[in-house]
Amino acid sequence: MMEKSADQFCLKKDLRDWQFCQSKLMNLPLDITKENYVRRNIKDSIFSVVLPTPLKTKLKLVHFSEDALINILDMDPLITKTSEFLEFIAGNKVIPSSVPLSHRYGGYQFGFWAMQLGDGRAHLLGEYINRAGERWELQLKGSGKTPYSRDADGRAVLRSSVREFLCSEAMYYLGIPTSRAAALVVSDDPVLRDQFYNGFSKTERAAVVLRLAPSWFRFGSLEILAHNRELTSLKKLLDFIIIEHYSQINPQDDSRYVQLFCQVAQKTMDLVVCWQSVGFVHGVLNTDNMSMLAITIDYGPFGFMETYDPHFVPNSSDKEARYCFDRQLQIAEWNLQKLSEAFIPFLDETQVIQVRTELQNFGPSAKVKQRSAFIKKLGLNEDKDDADSQLLTLLLQLMEETGTDFTMTFRQLGEIALADIRNPQILNEYWSLKRLSSHPQYPSFTEAYLKRIEEERGLTDAGRRQLMCQMNPRYVLRNWMAQSAIEKAEKDDFSEVQFLLKVLQNPYTICEEAEEKGYADPPPEWSHTIRVSCSS
Ligand code: AMP
Ligand code: MG
Repeated sequence: MMEKSADQFCLKKDLRDWQFCQSKLMNLPLDITKENYVRRNIKDSIFSVVLPTPLKTKLKLVHFSEDALINILDMDPLITKTSEFLEFIAGNKVIPSSVPLSHRYGGYQFGFWAMQLGDGRAHLLGEYINRAGERWELQLKGSGKTPYSRDADGRAVLRSSVREFLCSEAMYYLGIPTSRAAALVVSDDPVLRDQFYNGFSKTERAAVVLRLAPSWFRFGSLEILAHNRELTSLKKLLDFIIIEHYSQINPQDDSRYVQLFCQVAQKTMDLVVCWQSVGFVHGVLNTDNMSMLAITIDYGPFGFMETYDPHFVPNSSDKEARYCFDRQLQIAEWNLQKLSEAFIPFLDETQVIQVRTELQNFGPSAKVKQRSAFIKKLGLNEDKDDADSQLLTLLLQLMEETGTDFTMTFRQLGEIALADIRNPQILNEYWSLKRLSSHPQYPSFTEAYLKRIEEERGLTDAGRRQLMCQMNPRYVLRNWMAQSAIEKAEKDDFSEVQFLLKVLQNPYTICEEAEEKGYADPPPEWSHTIRVSCSS
């Protein structure tokens, strides 16, 4: 289908003119029980049909993503002014073309098989084909209990929803594969949360985010079927994923499952390398949070690393630092190993060896990709192997020992002229580099860096700076920035959420207002006490 620009195409201002397409997901095995009550051991199904539970109190629109509305959903931003839209986002109004589904999946959580998890507070409203011919799945998060809710309430609170909303969009604008967030509503419906699991519960407000992804299937979607030996359903799901999402794979090919596994592994590696290169730590890399499309999903206690520390853990519940910054690639490999077990029933001996080889190559190959991504962050293109590794190792060592800011060190290396890189007066204007330069080995680093830049053919200093500023963001969603927006939002002032989204849509471009707010400054003192946990 030819893509039509927004002005050629009539964007929908009224929800009554907008509809879901025929669902393909509903061709997959459906739960025969239609009543909505918690069941711990649902069998032979991939989805349960279940309605969202309406919120009871007044709904308020916190914010929406104009880009997601226009370019994914073909909706005119004016639609957000209608009460139907608000009710749609809240799950209060189910439009006629929607058959809401909750997905049954399992997962390995913190290294252990957790059995049935599933969408305990999410409803997949339907699939939409937009004017570009793309099929998107719309999902509400926080929209009430489902058969998968276990002991929980099916709700999401405002603070975690603001974080998910902002970070999904921020990641997209950083160029990182991710689910998107279209809109966020909040109500006055009370939700009880023990935020730090210390026995002190607080009443918070229920919020719902409308999330978008081409697919919400996770590693755990396949794992649960393999664990329960539901092999017919498992095969159906694998074929569905290939046909719908991996069009390069011939669905008739005997090697299709190996090909799928290898592609998921490669894409997952690329995704985690992207995370590493912006200092993003997901926080809960359980297999139920790993996408079969290798996009970032399920934003919870994530964090952008500030002070460079390979062991940085954003999630205060992760006491063993299982999911720290430096281990994300290793964990992705571990998760892929678990995923591979779900493929085994459909592989012959040679194919099993191919999968094993893919897994064996994961670590070394990921290391090379990560190094090359970091080399690019330094404005270098030609990978000179050993010398580059040494340069990088030295820089990271200096960053760790001086405790410099991850984002701003790379950014400021891209902003400063090389001629000034050793000038203490000029370095004073670059807070992160100033700190880095206090290291006794700083001159060794700059010497090696200058030499290396000289070797990069045809790269002027202006060219290097331009390249690096396109590669290294100036603004990322720091915890304190999210926190400050959340505190206002709790008082129904959504201006900072709205402002943050605007800034994060252009993370590589200097924005005067963002500078005034200190978004590129050292994080404020008070930010060191912010803690985020799985409670959401
Ligand atoms: P998460 O940590 O958000 O990725 O969730 C892990 C699992 O717990 C998923 O199966 C969720 O659906 C479920 N879950 C988390 N919070 C809730 C909640 N408030 N109500 C119901 N299920 C939840
Ligand atoms: Mg999850």
